[in-house]
Amino acid sequence: MVEETVAFIDTSAILHNFQVVRSLAPRHAVMAMIKCNGYGHGALNCARTLIDSDAVGVSTLAEAMELREANIASRIILMSGFHNAEELLCLSQNQIEAVVHAVYQIELLENTTLSQPLKIWLKIDTGMNRLGIPLAQAKEVYQRLQKCHAVVKPIHLLTHLARADEVSHVATDNQVKHFSSIVGEWNEGARSIANSAAILGHPTTLAASDWVRPGIMLYGVSPFEGRTGQLEGLKVVMTLCSHLVAVHDLTKGEAVGYGATWTCPEAMRVGVVRVGYGDGYPRGLPSGTPILIGKKRVSLIGRVSMDMITVDLRNQPNAKVGDEVILWGENLPIEEIAGCAKVSPYELLCGVSSRVPRKIQ
Ligand SMILES: *Cc1c(COP(=O)(O)O)cnc(C)c1O
Repeated sequence: MVEETVAFIDTSAILHNFQVVRSLAPRHAVMAMIKCNGYGHGALNCARTLIDSDAVGVSTLAEAMELREANIASRIILMSGFHNAEELLCLSQNQIEAVVHAVYQIELLENTTLSQPLKIWLKIDTGMNRLGIPLAQAKEVYQRLQKCHAVVKPIHLLTHLARADEVSHVATDNQVKHFSSIVGEWNEGARSIANSAAILGHPTTLAASDWVRPGIMLYGVSPFEGRTGQLEGLKVVMTLCSHLVAVHDLTKGEAVGYGATWTCPEAMRVGVVRVGYGDGYPRGLPSGTPILIGKKRVSLIGRVSMDMITVDLRNQPNAKVGDEVILWGENLPIEEIAGCAKVSPYELLCGVSSRVPRKIQ
């Protein structure tokens, strides 16, 4: 039987990338971001691999509970926090730490009696204007939380950077300045600023904090446009693989696939690969997108279907049904494929669908 589409996950590469974080931020604690199913790599596998991190970060309560229910004992930080008393209780009972980013969450904390107080991370908005307490309210909110019995002291502090992927951009320095000017006088508690781009490109963010929050770099991908993880000293973690399921010899002028968006310029061999947008291989990828067969590059031709794509085999005339095909991986950077699709590599990783088995290597 011809195999299905598979995402191979190289855990030794995750560990290598984690060591890169450690070497760039040697005195920092590491909150490994494994939200969105570990950026598509499988959150449980990532949590088990990153057992030496100081905490893991997730975005939904369901993600946090998946880890606890699988007996992951790590510190878990829920980036969205809680939205009602029931969620608050669940976090407390399962010793999950919460980011507190809005005043309604502080009211919930003040009005709830918890047998186990909650560890919290107060998120301060220093210019991204997404989540977080505005600078002008930060001091008052912090003082309210200091008095709150449901909260473990000291309170930890974080902010998130909007433009860290733009190397040396002044916006990042300004965010760091705002953060330090507010939290500088609060002596206790951990401080966290840097995501992958800041760890790799903005050392000033490290000087002003003691925790880092790497995500994408753990998965071997560069946060900077036009670069690859390999250029940052990272190792590729995911290889998306499938197989040729049919080979055809077509004549000049024959069209391929839905909408007949590609026409054979000459008599040629065309392969069909068992992967499509149903697996997370984007429909927006154009003809000409590179694909690896037997270490050689061939081109995507025609439109990506739900379960299949078609490839130009003029370059690889001996390819046959059953041959392995690589959609992205070590010798075909996901950053390059993301560029062809005009999306970010984050989106490609998170988009690998649930029907694709993750095989741990
Ligand atoms: C996702 C996330 C990160 C990690 O960002 P990367 O760019 O993947 O390193 C850090 N902090 C917060 C709050 C996040 O949501």
